[in-house]
Amino acid sequence: MITAKFYDIQGFSVHDGPGIRLTCFMKGCPLRCAWCHSPESQAFPTELNFMEVKCVGVEACGRCLDACPNGAIAKGAAKTSPKGEEITLISVDRDKCTDCGACADACYAKALYMCGTDWTVDDLLERILRERPFFESSGGGVTFSGGEVLSQPEFLLEILKRCKNENIHTAVDTTGFAPWSVIEPILPYTDLFLYDLKNIDSDLHKAGTGVPNELILENARKIADAGGKMMIRIPTMPGYNDSVEAFDKLGAFIKSLGNAVETVQLLPYHTLGKVKWERLGRAAPPFETEAPSDELMNARKTQLEGFGLNVIIH
Ligand code: SF4
Ligand code: SF4
Repeated sequence: MITAKFYDIQGFSVHDGPGIRLTCFMKGCPLRCAWCHSPESQAFPTELNFMEVKCVGVEACGRCLDACPNGAIAKGAAKTSPKGEEITLISVDRDKCTDCGACADACYAKALYMCGTDWTVDDLLERILRERPFFESSGGGVTFSGGEVLSQPEFLLEILKRCKNENIHTAVDTTGFAPWSVIEPILPYTDLFLYDLKNIDSDLHKAGTGVPNELILENARKIADAGGKMMIRIPTMPGYNDSVEAFDKLGAFIKSLGNAVETVQLLPYHTLGKVKWERLGRAAPPFETEAPSDELMNARKTQLEGFGLNVIIH
């Protein structure tokens, strides 16, 4: 039986394709974006997270210290609780942690929790079909996101086929970084690709994500040539990809994809995901910058509209 690991299933999404959508976030990604807003999506296995704000302190609880078979949990920093009491938090030694989940099971406060749940195709389809009334009333459907869903092609192809069999609108949110042999089979079952273009310059793309962009651009063209439909998504980050020159090159490339591109969505950089790095016990994201101003976003929108593109700001 095919399974895939998902880190979130989110109902009532309105930005991941048309109408009201169920967005299914798969774990695992071959890219390592230096600004990643969802670091819990990067690794394929289930991982331990610690949400400090929920911990009631080892004085009142401390159950996780006893639960860990590897001695990975110790007393950590002191903190003043919301009630004004001095409490001692825990710290997790990530080198000793095997992500076994025993501490999360013991933590009634849900300060410790595991991120990543296995789904079978049958179970996920059943979950998707529960949303059918919302899909039908809004023209929505299901969006498979990540992580990188093309990294688990067997599961993706099967769930897409089953959704189309149920007449559900399907969207695939992707970095485009996968062999064409993975993308071609899903084309007949994918109504819309949400296709990321993070940087038009391949060296800068590699510096920011760990991989060059030639394959990504080539796949976008092949999808367009094969009749696929796309919403191009551009995370817009001051100092990385926001220059006039970069957007001129982007506009020309997107325009060359013709009618395949229905919309271009500009995603302004934000730092809301930073806390997720802390929950995983990781250092801050390697790339941080300021949020783009409304003026900048509007200027880049206007610039792309000059290529005849339909552009929206997320
Ligand atoms: S997940 Fe397992 S190994 Fe890691 S800290 Fe918790 S109990 Fe210890
Ligand atoms: S079990 Fe949870 S609430 Fe209790 S000390 Fe550990 S992390 Fe804090």
